[in-house]
Amino acid sequence: EKWVYTFGAGLAEGGAGDVEKLGGKGANLAEMAGLGLPVPPGLTIIADACTYFYTHQRNFPDELKAQVLDGIGGVEAITGRTFGDARNPLLLSVRSGARSSMPGMMDTVLNLGLNDETVQGLGKAAEDDRFAWDSYRRFIQMYSDVVLGLDHEIFEEILDDEKARFGHEFDTDLTAAEWQHVTRIYKQMIEDELGEPFPQDPQVQLWGAIGAVFSSWMNARAVTYRQLHNIPVHWGTAVNVQAMVFGNLGSTSATGVAFTRNPSTGDKELYGEFLVNAQGEDVVAGIRTPQSLTEVARLESGYDKPAMEKLMPEAFAEFLSICNRLETHYQDMQDVEFTIERGKLWMLQTRSGKRTTKAAMKIAVDMVAEGLISEEEAVSRIEPSSLDQLLHPTIDPRVAREVIGAGLPASPGAATGEIVFTAEDAVSAKEEGRKVILVRMETSPEDIHGMHAAEGVLTTRGGMTSHAAVVARGMGIPCVAGAGTMRVDFRNGALIGVGVQLKKGDIITIDGSSGQVLKGAVPMLQPELSGDFAKIMAWADKTRRMTVRTNADTPGDARAARSFGAEGIGLCRTEHMFFEGERIHVMREMILAEDEAGRRAALDKLLPMQRSDFTELFSIMHGLPVTIRLLDPPLHEFLPKTEQEIAEVASAMGMEPRALSQRVDALHEFNPMLGHRGCRLAISYPEIAEMQARAIFEAAIAAALETGEPVVPEIMVPLVGLRSELDYVKGVIDGVASEVMREGALEISYLVGTMIELPRAAIRAHVIAEAAEFFSFGTNDLTQTTFGMSRDDAAAFIPTYQKKGIIERDPFISLDFDGVGELIRIASERGRQTRPDMKLGICGEHGGDPTSIHFCEDVGLDYVSCSPFRVPIARLSAAQATI
Ligand code: PEP
Ligand code: MG
Repeated sequence: EKWVYTFGAGLAEGGAGDVEKLGGKGANLAEMAGLGLPVPPGLTIIADACTYFYTHQRNFPDELKAQVLDGIGGVEAITGRTFGDARNPLLLSVRSGARSSMPGMMDTVLNLGLNDETVQGLGKAAEDDRFAWDSYRRFIQMYSDVVLGLDHEIFEEILDDEKARFGHEFDTDLTAAEWQHVTRIYKQMIEDELGEPFPQDPQVQLWGAIGAVFSSWMNARAVTYRQLHNIPVHWGTAVNVQAMVFGNLGSTSATGVAFTRNPSTGDKELYGEFLVNAQGEDVVAGIRTPQSLTEVARLESGYDKPAMEKLMPEAFAEFLSICNRLETHYQDMQDVEFTIERGKLWMLQTRSGKRTTKAAMKIAVDMVAEGLISEEEAVSRIEPSSLDQLLHPTIDPRVAREVIGAGLPASPGAATGEIVFTAEDAVSAKEEGRKVILVRMETSPEDIHGMHAAEGVLTTRGGMTSHAAVVARGMGIPCVAGAGTMRVDFRNGALIGVGVQLKKGDIITIDGSSGQVLKGAVPMLQPELSGDFAKIMAWADKTRRMTVRTNADTPGDARAARSFGAEGIGLCRTEHMFFEGERIHVMREMILAEDEAGRRAALDKLLPMQRSDFTELFSIMHGLPVTIRLLDPPLHEFLPKTEQEIAEVASAMGMEPRALSQRVDALHEFNPMLGHRGCRLAISYPEIAEMQARAIFEAAIAAALETGEPVVPEIMVPLVGLRSELDYVKGVIDGVASEVMREGALEISYLVGTMIELPRAAIRAHVIAEAAEFFSFGTNDLTQTTFGMSRDDAAAFIPTYQKKGIIERDPFISLDFDGVGELIRIASERGRQTRPDMKLGICGEHGGDPTSIHFCEDVGLDYVSCSPFRVPIARLSAAQATI
């Protein structure tokens, strides 16, 4: 079996299409090598080898060793250096590279192959002993951390002590002899800690590093990251073993990262950072603050720090042209890593760059205009769930800002919250329902869960490509990074800004679009959805087949949904209308009434309220379809609970509190979700359904007269399992309809349909369709009843199920295709057997979930209906489902 693919010197065994095998990094290194770009030669061990490693007690496949050595032989031939050779040693980098990028989650070892002998040879060959010893100490530090499991802090402490002894401030001040001294202390410490010396044999180093990279696939951060991003564990990671090139070979060497377009705004400009005389991890680690590639930095001292463009014009020109070539080749914005070794440019990585949603929109729209991609391609490039980011509020520009610090605008949107300094505090605050801003010097992968819990992130160090910036953009939460004018005093739990000192728990606002940090909470503005967003949405609307409706119970929801492009209401939960203001009292009177006459008296009071609600919804929707569902929840939800509430209601009804209390107790149910709710209520108390139907028809007439457009109400009966249930309720509705029409001397068209939210209804759909004129899948209840899992209690065990690999996704969030989905398929087919032109839709939470929407397209539903803020997501997902 072939476990190893090689690349270098203009040739490659794989390419960009081999991501599954070679991982993202390996596939793109191969692609770049094949294009003839300057890529250090190397080899990729395929991801299957990682899976093998885990299914065989952490052993490597038999053929692997020989294949890797063979590959290294090829690298030796290209570079003219030999791995382990004392005079002219080849050094290697060993990096992870999974199918989908997991930034910073897994391990890397650089400068591998150095030992007490080869370090001398490296110094001679490079004519730079200082560089050689600097590389050796870096290698010892990294290898010890990654492979030997020694905390890198111990090394930092030794280094700080020695620097102080030598009287140096910066790492760059140390001489060759001083670095040599530091490595001696490092090695002694390792031997003291582990009881054996630091491995000198390059082969031992190599296999140690490969094993460590495989092992890092299962480290805690990688596991968390995979869970957050739905990356399956069986993918495994590939390993890239590559000739080292050195950015730390003096002032003509450098290392950097860049985006071919601005990842925050999408502007067409090279955007990146570099460090002279440094190795890759220095840029990410935030130890030194990198310089912009293209912009001159003005230092406090008054000196200018030139951009790469000035400092290394030839390498820069070549780099720019390679960036352009990569963009055209991949037809997408790229995120690249590079190193310049003594003036010679080397490309170390390219991948499609992570970007904010705003940037993604702009880049897609620009690339259509540039003729690089089609409109459909542009639509398919936008991650639907990322549209949430655009819906983030921004700070109202009209209010005064009390700026207490500023950093880089690393991830857009504004957020307000209490200051917390640790990820743990962020998580526990969130659990208590408090909103926090996570404030750190810099973040690391260990902080991911805290970032997730926070409204936003503020760091005092690091650049636009720092961990905090990259991760926050990916999560869609606002971030201000590298706020250098602020300081975190960790020991005293304080954040020190311009003229202020704040403590944990104090409120701040960060503006991830301007980089400002403000004191206190600030008024926000809701976003405007125009420009690139409107273009992409218009293209999506042209492409999709399904229509998108909204679940709206109030005029406010309905208006918001219209502005987001909803094409009607797919579900109006009328019970939500009864909770407001005075209505709850009338509602309670109705429920607690002793007899039908009492109920009717209360219903007469509710009728005008319902009628005006519906009239308003109909006029907002202006002729678009509106589905109104009859009362669904169990009655006890409306009942008074506290003693005081009971006393109030009792006095209003002229009843004894004790008698009322008994009525309340009598309505108690053991399992209300499966109790007296849905159409069962309408069957027990048809006068409720009568009142609602009357309100709907009278409102339809009123709205039709007002808007001049016919209104065709769709009345939906919930929780039907039997055709006879629907027949009964439909009889009530039809009766009211003819009454109202007679009274108004006006003909109205209307539809009566049902929710399909019980397995029995799905299976008997062909029979139910004889009475129902439309179906709407209530996948919340359908999931609950299909799994037999209470939708209100499932949160207690679903996360455990996911952790233990029993289910991959929460079926209440993302439709269970195999079970619940199969019922939807069956019901759709059977329903249409009876009534071929029957309208089918979905109104459970899944109607706003992208993967579930793909399923709905597959099954051939006519529409999806979701909450107003999800409408844009659904429009885009519905379009992508057809591409
Ligand atoms: C459903 O069950 O999916 C549904 C939309 O109804 P509700 O959530 O109101 O029960
Ligand atoms: Mg339901």
